[in-house]
Amino acid sequence: MTTQPAMVIIGAGQCGVRTAAALRNNGWDGEITLLGNEGAAPYDRPPLSKAVLLGERSTEQCAFHDDAFYRDQRIDLRVDACVQHIDRGARKVVLSDGRSIEYQRLLIATGAEPRRLDVPGANLQGVHLLRTASDANALAEALQPSRRIVIVGAGFIGLEVAASARARGCQVVVIEAGARALMRAVPEVVAGYLIDKHRQMGVQIHFAAQIERLLGSAHVTGVKLKDGTQIGCDCVVVGIGVKPRTELAEAAGIDVADGIAVDDTLRTNDPHIFAAGDVCSFPHRLFRRRMRLECWKNAEDHARIVARNMLERGETYSEVPWFWSNQYDMTIQIAGMPAFGVESVVRKTGDTSRIFFALDRDGVLVGASGVGKLSEIARDVRVAQTLIGQRACIDRALLEDPDVKLKGLVAVEAL
Ligand code: NAP
Repeated sequence: MTTQPAMVIIGAGQCGVRTAAALRNNGWDGEITLLGNEGAAPYDRPPLSKAVLLGERSTEQCAFHDDAFYRDQRIDLRVDACVQHIDRGARKVVLSDGRSIEYQRLLIATGAEPRRLDVPGANLQGVHLLRTASDANALAEALQPSRRIVIVGAGFIGLEVAASARARGCQVVVIEAGARALMRAVPEVVAGYLIDKHRQMGVQIHFAAQIERLLGSAHVTGVKLKDGTQIGCDCVVVGIGVKPRTELAEAAGIDVADGIAVDDTLRTNDPHIFAAGDVCSFPHRLFRRRMRLECWKNAEDHARIVARNMLERGETYSEVPWFWSNQYDMTIQIAGMPAFGVESVVRKTGDTSRIFFALDRDGVLVGASGVGKLSEIARDVRVAQTLIGQRACIDRALLEDPDVKLKGLVAVEAL
């Protein structure tokens, strides 16, 4: 009996595990090998900066599936695999222990890794990153009441950790290099709204602040800014963005352009190799540009499509991005790409809830950011997602008026 080469997936994060399951659901009956290197079964990352830091959930409870799932689905999950290189000629993946696995189709879903601070003192004890379950456990332990926490970066990690740390009773200072928060994710008006909430909750925020060094001999004791300001602290959390893990692809001669470059079916320049999730850049039909998305829903959507395309279904990817965050009692939901807008229109959907619509220079709706109570924003953001998918141009007065049902505008557009 000859065995068919496997479907091999490098990266046992959300995108990798979802793809493995989707291959089975789509009828692939041969071998599936899922290669991870975190030493633990794949888990969901969004709770790490929220429920896990708040002590509401353990990292074990974040696992996507139990062992029985992988057994029943005949997914060969290896959690301690270190892939050394991809041999494209022989169509095999070579592991550091010398073993190799032949593939029929290969998916690279290696995700992204946190950028590290490049200043003296960055390696002191008490300096945390937050990407993995073990990072989250170490940080949860550090967030004891009344501890002084400095957070570097006012991105999603920084702001979610700030909210969790305040809830744990810590004193929190955020240091952001840019002139405002969430520069690449949302328009200024939305970022301002979120930052007001953080300040009301007692978080101190410094914008346009450059770190000169971290202070301390063994353990961090403070942060010195380039303008001379010194901020004492017991712990530093670095959330200054991520970079895609492209090294294996680059070494194998696969095209890379801000992430592994794939076409709209998520296939690389090697027809047997695909890339998906945070690690790849792909052309988005709707926004007419190449982009790389670092978010949960993109990993889910990519997994669904790439599994089908590894089975030669030839489907193109054109989902409208969607993203959420929770900070304090506030939910943030973002549909589309608000940062591509040049004009913002605000709809008040509750006392403290708002939807900020983003229009491009042609008046096309390209993004919607809902901030406030879940029940007061979720429906409109969902409908806006459909409108963005239709490249709808909607009268600003209609968008602004909370008495105008957005759903009615979808019907008009669809006619
Ligand atoms: P991020 O959202 O890219 O934000 C990083 C922030 O740090 C940016 O504002 C960045 O400014 C700033 N920064 C960069 N270098 C700095 C420095 N030396 N000093 C001070 N500030 C600096 O990245 P992140 O917050 O680290 O999050 C990592 C990834 O996880 C992102 O992909 C994020 O979307 C994802 N994530 C998602 C969620 C969610 O879905 N709810 C939650 C947490 C994290 P510039 O923009 O000017 O570089």
